[in-house]
Amino acid sequence: MSKVIEDCIFCKIIAKEVPAEIVYEDDLMIAFKDINPQAKVHILLVPKVHIPNNLYLEGSHKPLIGHIILKANEIAKKLGIAETGFRLIVNNGTDAGQEVPHIHWHLLGGEPLGRLIC
Ligand code: C5P
Repeated sequence: MSKVIEDCIFCKIIAKEVPAEIVYEDDLMIAFKDINPQAKVHILLVPKVHIPNNLYLEGSHKPLIGHIILKANEIAKKLGIAETGFRLIVNNGTDAGQEVPHIHWHLLGGEPLGRLIC
């Protein structure tokens, strides 16, 4: 069981203290529908351990990160967006618009997303 960080909404979702539409869960991570979707399909992939953002990742997290990235493929396939393409995004800190300081990957797809980088 992960330690619940007080005032962390994602820790509360992981602890089932706050509801979410969960699409996948295992010992290491949870994936649920974003409450404010920015695409037809918008899922958040969240490790159960509280890590504020990418800057706080350590060598010991490598298997966890690999697990989450590979699960993104499985979830994309399960939700039927793998063939047409999808985007995985991590926002880190203020300039990136990170609102929830518990690292998470946005999985977006189900429609053309436009180009982010020219
Ligand atoms: O990357 P960032 O921190 O901005 O993303 C946080 C995301 O968490 C937002 O897309 C927001 O809609 C989502 N969220 C959610 N459920 C909550 C609180 C936030 O899906 N209860």
